[in-house]
Amino acid sequence: MNESTPEYTLTRKKGMRRVWLRVVADGSLAVSAPYSMSRSTIDGFVRAKSGWIEKRRSLITDLPPQLEAGPEAEQLKAWIWEQLDELMPMWCERMGVDVEPRVSLKIMTSRWGSCNAVRRRVSLNVELGRRGRDALEYVLVHELAHLFESNHGLGFYAIMDRHLPDWKARRAALRSLQKKPQR
Ligand SMILES: [Zn+2]
Repeated sequence: MNESTPEYTLTRKKGMRRVWLRVVADGSLAVSAPYSMSRSTIDGFVRAKSGWIEKRRSLITDLPPQLEAGPEAEQLKAWIWEQLDELMPMWCERMGVDVEPRVSLKIMTSRWGSCNAVRRRVSLNVELGRRGRDALEYVLVHELAHLFESNHGLGFYAIMDRHLPDWKARRAALRSLQKKPQR
């Protein structure tokens, strides 16, 4: 997926004339669009609405206080790097990624991670350091899957199912943690 397009689940509907966007209770984005509309047109529409999406998300999800640069963020980064030392080579081998992508850890407000398959770069949200190893592993596998499949199509989910059969439960846990901050 294009780095700047917010992630969404797409439903195609008969008789629709335009695109509908809805931010659902867990903060995820649901998009409905006519069958005839191309994926890139829909992506463009979603990108154009990213400001609105952010606003809706901040209204309906009760996120923990936004992480800021500082000692806590540095501690979380150190923990993530430690986990990645083990997780990255393990998952690259399992998934057949021959050259490990470069990773950067960033404080991000709207996503858990991103992947630029062409530049072989993966970004992970420092916030994952607060969410535990299972969550970090899920996001890592998700981003590595994007090295093979750029969109969230059937091929993408087939990779997730094959390598991390419980990925849906991990994603749900990540979302429920979003709704119930620890403090
Ligand atoms: Zn993705």
